[in-house]
Amino acid sequence: MDRACELSAKYLDGSALPSSVRWSSNQGRRWGSCTLLDGSIRISTRVQGMPSWVLDYVLLHELAHLLHAGHGPEFWKILEVYPRTDRARGFLEGASFAQDDPGQLTSDDEDD
Ligand SMILES: [Zn+2]
Repeated sequence: MDRACELSAKYLDGSALPSSVRWSSNQGRRWGSCTLLDGSIRISTRVQGMPSWVLDYVLLHELAHLLHAGHGPEFWKILEVYPRTDRARGFLEGASFAQDDPGQLTSDDEDD
């Protein structure tokens, strides 16, 4: 919660004010989620142990959703202020890929 408020103040002029921020082990494939109705944010426990700039990105992503619900251009414009957005997205894409089905590439190769 403290970190989320710091990030909101630094990158979003303090415009995103979450009501609560907590870890959740119940996020499925998502890294985080938010409930617009009450402003609560949940971050997947899978982000624990990742670099702090990745956690910051996930927090900022959810904070930005408090301002814009979808993933349209306006949403991504908010996140342009965070210098490591592209890098963090790449990190998370790689993490998803590794977690999904690490054996799949090997079996595809064998079919060839
Ligand atoms: Zn999102």
